[in-house]
Amino acid sequence: MWNLSITSFKQITAFSIFLFSLLIFNCSENSNSPSGNDDSRPIDEEPPTNENVIQVNKLNDHFTIFSEPIGTSVNATLFSGSEGNLMIDTGYDTMVGELRDSINGINPVGVQFIINTHTDTDHRGGNNVLSGGGTILGHVNGELVYQNSNPGADVLAIDRSYIFNFNGESIRCLLRTNNGHTESDIIVYFPESKIICTGDLYISESFPSVSFARGATVQAHLMTLNYLINYFPDDITYIPGHGRPSTKEELTAYYSMVEATVEIVRNEMATGRSLEDIQRSNVLAEWNSWGTYFVDYNTNSWIRQIYLSYYGL
Ligand SMILES: [Zn+2]
Repeated sequence: MWNLSITSFKQITAFSIFLFSLLIFNCSENSNSPSGNDDSRPIDEEPPTNENVIQVNKLNDHFTIFSEPIGTSVNATLFSGSEGNLMIDTGYDTMVGELRDSINGINPVGVQFIINTHTDTDHRGGNNVLSGGGTILGHVNGELVYQNSNPGADVLAIDRSYIFNFNGESIRCLLRTNNGHTESDIIVYFPESKIICTGDLYISESFPSVSFARGATVQAHLMTLNYLINYFPDDITYIPGHGRPSTKEELTAYYSMVEATVEIVRNEMATGRSLEDIQRSNVLAEWNSWGTYFVDYNTNSWIRQIYLSYYGL
């Protein structure tokens, strides 16, 4: 289907963006993607309901987070430098114009590159912000989705970790923790800047979002959080799929919350209680505030994901 040799993490071979932006991929006809539809969790299908105002959070000279809309928002992150603009996720399709204006306000050279952390519509809806001839990089399980998100783009679909150079940074697209949120998760690591874009593998102000219907499990989610905590520098900044950026200390505290709530639900399951019974008895009352960030992903949604993930174990 294509001739590009994928760089494994063990091979410290870096590709320049100029090399792989020239490559042409015939993706749409041959995709074996299981994720060509959008039957994901409802929280990622919600269109923006607030005023269409993008919140701009400039982390440093190179990184800017655009959160759209204000309130329960999704993060689209700009990495800008001498070679151009790279976006990690692109938000809602209805806000692509506002996103383009926001990017131009930082560095008006167009967008040469997009990395989608997964296929959910709120993370790739603005893929048309890409300049002509640009490249979309994403997990191979979302190949057809990404192709359809911008038919004029080259799609680089990866099935293992991948490294390339852009704006003086050796960017690592990591696939080491599949199925923590969906079947198409990518973590994007900028080692020189000490920044990680986690996608929805981490949502800093909500219970974890685990799409069991798409093959994700709470076990994989816990492994992912462990990986994010233990394999990166202490002074790393995590940019979540939704919510504010976090330190390692904050992510570690978040992990403790996740671990504690999983244990409580599992203990209830061990007594033979049904899902509905556990949900009715409000066993996670102490943590209910984590179930209010999304309109339609509450404490009972989280209990359900735990129940489904551990049922029979
Ligand atoms: Zn999301």
